[in-house]
Formats: sequence, structure tokens, C-alpha cells
Amino acid sequence: MPKPRIVIIGGGFGGLFTALELGGSHDVTLVTDEDHFVFTPMLYEYFSGEVEEWHIAPRYDELVEGNVHVMVAKATRVDLNAKTVSLANQPDPLPYDVLVLSVGGITNYAGVPGAEEFSLPFRKIEHADHLRQRMVNGLDHVPPDLPPQDVRTQLTFALVGAGASGCELSTKMSDLLTDAFKRRALKGEPRVLLLEMGDRVVPGMGDQIREYVDEALLHSRVEVHTLTRVVNVTSDGLTFEHDGSEEHIKTAAVVWLGGVRMNPLIEQLDAEKSRRGLLIVKPTLQLPQYDNVLALGDIAVYPDASPTLAGTAQLAFQQASLAARNVKALLDGKELHSKHFEELGEALSLGTERAAVLTGGKAFGGALARQARFALYTSRLPTWQHRLRVGASWFFEGTAPRPLLPLGLER
Ligand SMILES: Cc1cc2nc3c(=O)[nH]c(=O)nc-3n(C[C@H](O)[C@H](O)[C@H](O)COP(=O)(O)OP(=O)(O)OC[C@H]3O[C@@H](n4cnc5c(N)ncnc54)[C@H](O)[C@@H]3O)c2cc1C
Repeated sequence: MPKPRIVIIGGGFGGLFTALELGGSHDVTLVTDEDHFVFTPMLYEYFSGEVEEWHIAPRYDELVEGNVHVMVAKATRVDLNAKTVSLANQPDPLPYDVLVLSVGGITNYAGVPGAEEFSLPFRKIEHADHLRQRMVNGLDHVPPDLPPQDVRTQLTFALVGAGASGCELSTKMSDLLTDAFKRRALKGEPRVLLLEMGDRVVPGMGDQIREYVDEALLHSRVEVHTLTRVVNVTSDGLTFEHDGSEEHIKTAAVVWLGGVRMNPLIEQLDAEKSRRGLLIVKPTLQLPQYDNVLALGDIAVYPDASPTLAGTAQLAFQQASLAARNVKALLDGKELHSKHFEELGEALSLGTERAAVLTGGKAFGGALARQARFALYTSRLPTWQHRLRVGASWFFEGTAPRPLLPLGLER
């Protein structure tokens, strides 16, 4: 009897961890459009040089073994009735017996004119590299004798969206720029703007952790504008609206962190969805009309999870265990399980020297929280071999940020 074919689409928190738990005993194909995983909660530290690419973005072929076959290809269509997945640049669709969907979301530009064309997303390694290059480029073009007000205009960076991502990235950017100003003896100071439509930063989080976030934004001199809506983005700036009046500012770069939208692969899938376009799944993660298809992570709405977990790595990571267990049960003809998912806590990286951590209902911040965050995330990286190597590297080689050096000296 040939082994049942398990196909997993998407190698992020949901897909990779499902594949790792299933590998060894089953015939698994992991289809994913990148050749590496990204531990997104530490993309900020990669951007600031506190960690290296191999720490947080290991290649799949270094992680999986045994029966997991990795296919680096973009899935373009799923036919739930024919049980096949079409892949870009592949003539024949890939057949499956059991399918796990975990393709995650994409940046939501919310239809703001110019946003997709001119602002930078921040979800991948290449996005972090691109932003860093823009900052170095901006700094390299400032003559040392330029008056402070002109330097400030030339080095204005705007971030759209003050969720956790906006707060983490803006404080890192500001700290790196401030450090670069000192090293290059530039006059004045940089300007980092954080624009938020709502009335507060980190709207989905509790007051306890917000206190540390507010303090860090102040410490890193990030200029926060709440109740502010971005109207358009152009090649050299953006226009925002606050309290009925509009203002246009010149920027060296705009980073778009304004939300996540549905993956196009799921958009065109003929299955039951919520009003927001998320796949509705049973408590076993199966699609209601297709028992052999499971969905998890950012693309699915799970009936029994704390609402604060929606769209988080924590949820996808926890669901992966359930997905692997249920795929095995399905193939063995056994009963499938369900699970209640709870929030495991929060850990935000704030600037290059501090963090805020919420665990067991208690929040703490500062340099100690930064260390705790590194320790916590060592334990969440995929595979114990990778954890060990990364943990040793952080312990022995340190986690100091990499300054924004002139272009020729950046690596
Ligand atoms: C910068 C950043 C920081 C974050 N920080 C945190 C945090 O601190 N804590 C937290 O809990 N959550 C955090 N998140 C959210 C978290 O990353 C997501 O909730 C989580 O990754 C969702 O897991 P997933 O498996 O659903 O999707 P993802 O992890 O996004 O994985 C999807 C995978 O599918 C691949 N893919 C997409 N489309 C296709 C296709 N058509 N064909 C083949 N492959 C495809 C993608 O390349 C990717 O590898 C952060 C997100 C970002 C962007």
C-alpha cells in the first residue's frame, strides 16, 4: 500500500511546526514559496543586527529530515474536489490525500493611494534589509555641515500603524538613527513618526504592558500621532489627516504596518468563510465540508481560542501540534481532538536596549526583560539542534546591535 500523501502549504509557524511533528513517520510534502522559515517576532532584532539571519531564518533543508520533502514553489490554486494543488511553473498539479493549509496573511494597504507602491512592508528578511539600506542611504546623503532643521527634514521616517510591530520597529529605528548621528557627528536629531488611526498605541494589549511601551516610545524619542489617518503615500512623503485637517510631510521612507489581509490563495478557495474572509474550521481544525483538509494560523478562525490570540504566531504554533496529532488520527482512523488555546504572554522588543514582557499576569520591562525575551524565544525556535546552536551563539557572541555604518562598510 502506498503511504497517504500529506501536503502542507506554507512553511511558517503553522506549516513548519506541523511538518516537524509529522516528519519521520509519514510521507509529507511541505510546499512553500521561500526556502527558509522566518521567526517573525525577532525580525526587529534582525533588522537592528542584534541577531543574524541564520538565527531567525534557517533554511528548511537544515530543519527537516526524514520523510519531509520540501518543495520551494508558490501554490496558485487548490482544487478541494479533485484533491490537487497547482504550483507556479509546474505543469502537473500535486495530488494529496490530506491537505494542511497554513499560508498566513499578507500586508493590508487598505486601499490607501500610493501605499502599496511607495511604502515598505515589514514581514520578510528582504524587507528588513531594504529598510536598513534606505536608512543607511539617507544618512550617507547628509553632509556633516547641514543645519539641524534640514537634517531633520531629510531624515524623517514614518511608520503607519502603532500595533506591536509599529512600536517595536519605530523604537529600534530611532535608537539606530540616534546612534548613527553620534558616530557621524551629524547636527540635530532624526525624526521617527508613528501614525495611528486609533486613540492609543498597541490597541490589542492591556494597560500593564502599554505603560512600558509608552515609556519606551518616549525614551527613544518616537513622535506618536494617534487619531491620525494616512490619506496617501507618494515617492517622497505622505499626507495624513488629523482632526479634520490634512498635512503633507517629506519622508526618507514610509513603513506600512497597517494590518494583515487574506492570502489570495484562500480568497479564491470555495469554502466556508467568516465575514473577514477567514476560513471557518471545526474545533479539530478541519474544514466543515472537507474532512481531509485542515487549516490553521492567520488564515483560519478557530472556535475555541482566546480572542487576543487571533493573528499571532503563538496561536499558529500551538495549533500546529493539534494539526499534526489530528492528521495522524485521521490516517489511523482514530478520533480527532480539539483544544482550547490560551494566551502564553506577550514579549515586545523596544529599542535596542530594552523590552517588555507580560507573563503570568505580571509585566516587567528594561534590560532584564530584553534578556528574558531572548531566553524565551530560544525555546520557541524550531528543532532542538537549531535552538542549541542559536542559544550558544547568543550566549557566547552576544546580541549587541549593528550600527548603521556607511554603505561600503555595511554588510
Ligand atoms: C514583523 C512581524 C512580527 C510579528 N511578531 C509577532 C510576535 O511577537 N508574536 C506573535 O505571536 N506573532 C507575531 N507576528 C504574527 C505571526 O508572525 C503570525 O501570526 C504567524 O506567523 C502566523 O503563522 P502562519 O503559519 O499562519 O503564517 P506564516 O507564519 O505567515 O507562514 C505562512 C507561510 O506560507 C508561505 N506562503 C504564503 N503564500 C504561499 C503560497 N501561495 N504558496 C506557498 N507558500 C506560501 C509564506 O512564505 C510563509 O512561509 C508577527 C508578524 C510579523 C510580520
